[in-house]
Amino acid sequence: MPTASLDALSDPARSFVSSGPQRLLIGAEWVDAADGRTFETVDPATGEPICAVAHAGTDDVDRAVRAARAALDGPWSTMPAAGRSRLISTLADLLEANADELAELEALDNGKPKKIAGIVDVPQAVAHLRYYAGWPTKIEGETIPVSWPDMFCYTRKEPVGVCGQIIPWNFPLLMCAWKIAPALAAGCTVVLKPAEQTPLSALRLGRLAQEAGLPEGVLNVLTGDGSTGAALVDHPGVDKIAFTGSTAVGREIGAATGRSLKRATLELGGKSPNIILPDADLKAAIKGSFQGIYFNTGQACQAGSRLFVPREHYDDVVSGLAEAASKARVGPGLEASTQFGPVVSSEQHERVLSYIRSGLESGAEAVAGGDGASEGNGAGYFVNPTLFTGVTDDMPIAREEIFGPVLVAMPYDNIDEVVRRANDTEYGLAAGVWTRDVARAHRLAARLKAGSVYINVWGPSDPAAPFGGYKASGIGREMGHANLDAYLEVKTVWTSLTEAPISSSIA
Ligand code: ADP
Ligand code: MG
Repeated sequence: MPTASLDALSDPARSFVSSGPQRLLIGAEWVDAADGRTFETVDPATGEPICAVAHAGTDDVDRAVRAARAALDGPWSTMPAAGRSRLISTLADLLEANADELAELEALDNGKPKKIAGIVDVPQAVAHLRYYAGWPTKIEGETIPVSWPDMFCYTRKEPVGVCGQIIPWNFPLLMCAWKIAPALAAGCTVVLKPAEQTPLSALRLGRLAQEAGLPEGVLNVLTGDGSTGAALVDHPGVDKIAFTGSTAVGREIGAATGRSLKRATLELGGKSPNIILPDADLKAAIKGSFQGIYFNTGQACQAGSRLFVPREHYDDVVSGLAEAASKARVGPGLEASTQFGPVVSSEQHERVLSYIRSGLESGAEAVAGGDGASEGNGAGYFVNPTLFTGVTDDMPIAREEIFGPVLVAMPYDNIDEVVRRANDTEYGLAAGVWTRDVARAHRLAARLKAGSVYINVWGPSDPAAPFGGYKASGIGREMGHANLDAYLEVKTVWTSLTEAPISSSIA
């Protein structure tokens, strides 16, 4: 059934979506789930189904893992590093050539503005692939100066093996690129499991990987839900799990991979503090803090969701943010004027609204938003940018990750106090500082327990710059050579160079 959003698509995106139930990519074939199960992916701007998608079960996971193993032991292991490099580059070129269609699919399936997908999600996915396409020819072992005489000791960096990669729904294509690029560069093979809310761009990526000439089985794409992801985590043929998603699921995966001793990298949630210092450029701080929380409708793991403001500037900052929030254009992602799309699903909609209700019930005041929302199609999952004042540190809206457009703004009186409160969280993904004083900025950066600290900016990202969490925000780092290392094993090779020890003992 065509929805209003489908009508707004260009021909390539519409023909991809309308091409019948979407299938699984296993080896060289696009196949239905072994048991024929499907699910529907939904347009968050309307609440209407977009199309049916195959729901992979344990049999499909098993077949995909076998296909990935065969590719790992076969053509992928013998391909020269420069060949892997060229294929990853070609895939980047194909993403770029199909950027408009990919941005539309992202807007349709996730709800985000097509314009944003076109300037952030797709180009960053391309940049990731290009960055890691440069690595295969630079993966080098070392010669080790061991203290044994006549001994030659060196290391080889070898691919970890078959990787199960489990993707969230907030940046569907970009998160796929974050995961597959270092894995392929390292020489691993992949079973990719996109989120059930947003499977479309990963499926399109699978087709582009085939077009790029990736050998069959190097990238397999299994659509399905958490049970599909769990089957991948439990499969004995998987060597490593890479996961981005909620801290709750990350804990489960960490426990399972701990038992099986599979390698795991986990990029999880946050409740990131954003601190304005008294000397900050307030205009810039307000603008940056606004984007820091509301970008992607608050559905970013590093969202700056706890704002700390010097008491003397509190009223000015709050009124600046509330004014910007009141002007926000919330609407369908496929409408050109939209600044913030809906949240991704009815579950998320209900979850975010229940946090807003909890804030109001616990006595906080919504000085912007706070209602269900708003514009666009009445059935869509819209939430207006919401700003709470009168919040105490112990309220759930100040402690728990909401993953929606909800900011709490809290006054503070001195630096030691704000550092203590900023760090008083189970999370540690990101933190922000706004100041004109370089020395204070870097002293504070050292004291904040977070994997990224942003000074006079929020949330810049680059494939070369490591990203990941302290504490319950995760294990390991995405991006940069840190993430390449997460897909490599180090093998130490010892060789005796002594001449015929037996004959010397005879003499
Ligand atoms: P959210 O709660 O925001 O939807 P999740 O952490 O549940 O985020 O989902 C992120 C990804 O993890 C999705 O691809 C989802 O299907 C997958 N997933 C959910 N539960 C599990 C699980 N128990 N094991 C493995 N993967 C899972
Ligand atoms: Mg969807």
